[in-house]
Amino acid sequence: MAKKINASAKIPTSVVTGAAGFLGSHLTDMLLARGHKVIGMDNFVTGAVANIAHLGGNKNFRFVEQDVTEFIFLDAPVNYVWHFASPASPVDYLELPIQTLKVGSLGTHKALGLAKEKGARFLLASTSEIYGDPLVHPQPEEYWGNVNTIGPRGCYDEAKRFAEALTMAYHREHGVATRIVRIFNTYGPRMRLNDGRVVPAFITQALKNQPVTVFGKGQQTRSFCYVSDLIEGIYRLMMSDCRQPVNIGNPTELTMLEFAREIIRATGSRSKVVFKPLPQDDPKQRRPVIARAKKELGWAPRVPLAEGLKSTIAYFRTKV
Ligand code: UDP
Repeated sequence: MAKKINASAKIPTSVVTGAAGFLGSHLTDMLLARGHKVIGMDNFVTGAVANIAHLGGNKNFRFVEQDVTEFIFLDAPVNYVWHFASPASPVDYLELPIQTLKVGSLGTHKALGLAKEKGARFLLASTSEIYGDPLVHPQPEEYWGNVNTIGPRGCYDEAKRFAEALTMAYHREHGVATRIVRIFNTYGPRMRLNDGRVVPAFITQALKNQPVTVFGKGQQTRSFCYVSDLIEGIYRLMMSDCRQPVNIGNPTELTMLEFAREIIRATGSRSKVVFKPLPQDDPKQRRPVIARAKKELGWAPRVPLAEGLKSTIAYFRTKV
């Protein structure tokens, strides 16, 4: 059995894998603001030094350059392990299918092993991708999904499905206190300009007055959650008693064509929409059911799209 979590620690210590990534770096900032010591890990495959550069000199932050698919050795006590390391954009995991599979499987194994050794609580950053191209809409946590194992997205979807299974196995067999968050589309400052996801793609194109590339006919839907809402939900989940997977996302759903028009409007751009081929296995619809998050965590998103886009666009203006 895992050692009991040391909840009485005056200053809790958190390990964040993928700390230099979009979500990992926002999570790190929040944990530091809430009085944690943070040990951040990243191998910079998709993360960026710029996302954590502002933490240089912070005595509560320590950075370890580490590929988390390798054995993780830490000499410090640890109370919480937040496993966020993974390529997460379809373009990235198409280019890095083996690394994506390895970090979701071997990386999750090592991060769980660390939590077990330290008696720490463990949270897995899972994803709405485990639902695949969903046949149930909107998606509740009870839905088992519709994934093409051998398609181009299979490396990410199956790695995260395996990661969920491994997390539950460590919970059942070793008694590790585990949490699983299923993250739906999230946006905000620190997304990589060229990561290929729709938010950086559309905003960058619009700011440059270039054509905005809508894939397919743009009738596929997504629901976008602002990063501060997402991180708050994840923090609450870790601190809760909820052992079931929890969807965290914003249920406001829109088509990609509507989204392109919204970005053009919000940036005051002269861009026109152009249509490009729809990538294989692109989910046709996606919207979270967040009843569990509401009930168990008292959480619901608060930042409306227009407001979240304002700060995201302001960030991208400094980068484009
Ligand atoms: N998309 C698009 N144009 C782009 C990039 C993406 O129309 O330049 C679409 C994509 O086909 C998908 C949606 O936007 O339907 C969201 O794509 P993203 O890569 O952000 O992530 P996903 O939600 O598919 O994981």
